[in-house]
Amino acid sequence: MDTHAFDAIVIGAGIAGATVAAHLSADHRVALIEAEEAAGYHSTGRSAAIWIQNYGPPDVRVLTGLSRGFFEHPPEGFTDAPILAHRPVLFLAPSEQREHLGRLLAEGTGLREASLEEVTALVPALRPGYAVQAAIEDDAFDMDVAALHQGFLRLLRTQDGVLALRSRTGQIERRAGLWHVQTSAGALFTAPVVVNAAGAWGDKVAEQAGVAPLGLVPKRRTGVVIDPAPWQATRWPMVNDVDHTWYIRPEARTKLMVSPADETDTHPHDVAPDELDVAIAIDRMQQALDIEVRRVEHSWAGLRTFTPDRSLAFGWSGADEGFFWCVGQGGYGIQTSPAAGKLVADVIAGRDPGPAGAILPAIDPRRFASIAAASSPL
Ligand SMILES: Cc1cc2nc3c(=O)[nH]c(=O)nc-3n(C[C@H](O)[C@H](O)[C@H](O)COP(=O)(O)OP(=O)(O)OC[C@H]3O[C@@H](n4cnc5c(N)ncnc54)[C@H](O)[C@@H]3O)c2cc1C
Repeated sequence: MDTHAFDAIVIGAGIAGATVAAHLSADHRVALIEAEEAAGYHSTGRSAAIWIQNYGPPDVRVLTGLSRGFFEHPPEGFTDAPILAHRPVLFLAPSEQREHLGRLLAEGTGLREASLEEVTALVPALRPGYAVQAAIEDDAFDMDVAALHQGFLRLLRTQDGVLALRSRTGQIERRAGLWHVQTSAGALFTAPVVVNAAGAWGDKVAEQAGVAPLGLVPKRRTGVVIDPAPWQATRWPMVNDVDHTWYIRPEARTKLMVSPADETDTHPHDVAPDELDVAIAIDRMQQALDIEVRRVEHSWAGLRTFTPDRSLAFGWSGADEGFFWCVGQGGYGIQTSPAAGKLVADVIAGRDPGPAGAILPAIDPRRFASIAAASSPL
C-alpha cells in the first residue's frame, strides 16, 4: 500500500474542507481526501449561492460578517471574476406573519421596512393581497460558489497541498501518535491531525475513527428552475416570506430558482428531489406571485446538515487526540466559508484566531458529549 505522510489530513473536499486545507497548507503539508470524482459534487455544488447577514444562529452571523472582506477583496489571482454580485433580499409578510416581520426588523441588522408600492415596483408579479407588510435587506449578494471553491483548491495546490479524488476513507486508526487513514484508492495517509469536513457524512467518518458521533442530521432541500416569461426577473431581489416557507432567486439570467425551503430529515446519500416538494415549491410561489409555470426546466436536491442545536461544531474532539470536527454548516456553509476555514486552520496551528475566536465556546463539539454518551451502547 502507498503510504503518504502529512501534517494534516482533511476529509471531504466540499467548501468546508477546501477552505480549511487551503488555509492550513500555507505552513503545513496537507492532504485533502475526497470520495467523489469531483470536489463539490454534494452540498457545495447544490446551494442557492446567497450571502445574507441576517441568517442563522449568532455564531454563523459572526462568520458571515467576517467572511465579507474576503468575498469583496480576495487575494490577488484567487479568481478571474468578482465572487459577489449585489442581490437584495425581500421579506414578505402575509397577515399571519406580520408579528414575525416586526421581530425581524427589531432584531436584524441592515433591514428596513418597504412599502407595498416599492415591493410591487421591484417584483411586479406580486399578487395584490398576498403581503400586508414587507422588509428589505439591501446589503445581500449572490455568490459565485464554483469560483470560490476552485479558488481555494487552486490555493491548496500552489502551496504544495495534495487533493486526492476518488478516495473514500475506510479504516481510520490512531497508532504511535499518528492517524492512519486508508482510502478506497488503496493508499494510506498518515498525519498527527485529521480534520473531519465530511458534511453529511461527518458522523460516519467519526465512526470509522472510533470517535463518538455528534448526532448530525442531514436535511433535504429542493431547488426548481422555471422560466418566468413573460416576466423579466433578472433584476428581481431574492424573495421569501418571513417564516421562510418558500423563496425564489433569479438564476442564469432569465430563469428563476424556486424552493419550498424544505427540511426533510434523511441520511447521508446522493440525494434527489421528491416530486411532491417540487409541486409544493411551485404552489407556494404561485400563492404569492402571478407566474405561470409551463414546465419545470430542472430540479435538484441537496443536503443541509445540522448539529442538534443548529450551531456549528468546530473544535477538537475531547477524548480523541488530533481529531478535529468541522461540521454542521447547515444552510450557511458557503457564506461563512472564508472565515470558517481560517478559524479552523488557526486553531489547529495554534495561532491567535482574532475576532472569530470569540465564538469558539459556542461551537465547541464537546457540548454534545452527553448526546454521544447517551447513544453509546456502553
Ligand atoms: C438547496 C441548498 C441551498 C443552499 N443555499 C445556501 C446559500 O444560499 N448560502 C450558503 O451559504 N449555503 C447554502 N447551502 C448550504 C451549503 O451548500 C452547505 O452548508 C455547504 O455546501 C456544506 O459544505 P461541506 O463542505 O460541509 O459539505 P459537502 O459539500 O457535502 O462536502 C462534503 C464532502 O465530503 C465528502 N466525503 C464524505 N464522506 C467521505 C469519506 N468517507 N471520504 C472522503 N470524502 C468524503 C463528500 O463526498 C463531499 O464532497 C445550501 C444548501 C442546499 C442543499
